[in-house]
Amino acid sequence: MKKDPPMPLLPTLFVSHGAPTMILQDIPAHHFLAGLGGQLARPKAILAISAHWEARGPRVSAVSEPPTIYDFYGFPAELYAMTYPVPGSPALAARTADLLAAAGLPAVIDDSRGLDHGAWAPLKLMYPDASIPVVSLSLLPDGGPAAHLKIGEALRPLRDEGVLIVGSGSLTHSLRDAFAHADGDPTPPWVSAFQDWTAAAIAGNQQDKLADYRRQAPSATRNHPSEEHFLPLFVALGAGTPGTAGRRLHTSVDLGVLAMDAYAFD
Ligand code: ZN
Repeated sequence: MKKDPPMPLLPTLFVSHGAPTMILQDIPAHHFLAGLGGQLARPKAILAISAHWEARGPRVSAVSEPPTIYDFYGFPAELYAMTYPVPGSPALAARTADLLAAAGLPAVIDDSRGLDHGAWAPLKLMYPDASIPVVSLSLLPDGGPAAHLKIGEALRPLRDEGVLIVGSGSLTHSLRDAFAHADGDPTPPWVSAFQDWTAAAIAGNQQDKLADYRRQAPSATRNHPSEEHFLPLFVALGAGTPGTAGRRLHTSVDLGVLAMDAYAFD
C-alpha cells in the first residue's frame, strides 16, 4: 500500500489581530494575513489560542460547528454580517486535552464555545474558504508566560500531526492610547521600543528574557496593561522547536499604537 508522503512540519504562529475592523480595512496587517495561508503547507486542522478567551481550566472547544461570535460592540453592521462557518474537530479537541493532561494541565472539554473575533478574523483572511477545521483553546487568566510556554510545549506533538497552532493577540495593546491616536500618527517611541525589544529577544531565542518581559521590556505595562494579548505568543513560542529562533513575518502599526507584528516558530 502506498503511504502518504510525510507532511512538511508546520511552523507555529503568533499573529496580531488588531481592532475588529482590521478585516475590513486596507492596512498592511490585513494584506499580510490574507497572503499568509498560501505560504504554508495546508494544515489538516487549526488550534487557535485567542486573547479573547480566558478561562479557569484550560478549556478546549469540542463544538462540531463552532458559531461565529461577535464579541465587540458599536462596530459597522458589515462586521456582524460576517461568518466563518468552519467545521470544528471534536477529535482534535480530545487529543489536545489528552496532551495537556499528560503535562499536568487537565483541560475541560467545552461543548458550546464558538470562535471569537481574535480567532475568526485572522483565520478568515488566511483561509477564506472556511474548510479547515478549527478548535479553540483558552488562555489561563493568571498563568503568565510560564504556564503558556508549558501549554505550548505540551502541544508540540500536534505539529507532527498536521495541526497549525495559531496564537492570536496583539504585539502591543494599549487601547487607552489607541483611542487617543489617529491613523497615520507617527509610532510613539514607547511602542517601537517594545517591538524592537521583542524582535531582538525572539531573534536571539532568549526565552527566559521574553518570559520576564513585564520587568525587562521597555514600557511593558503601558503596552500591555493586562497580559491577555501577549500571552498567545508564549503558546506559539513554547510549541516551537527548542533551540530554534523565531522569525518575524510582519511588522506594522495600526491606530497609532497597536503593533501588528507576527512571528513564526519553526
Ligand atoms: Zn483583541
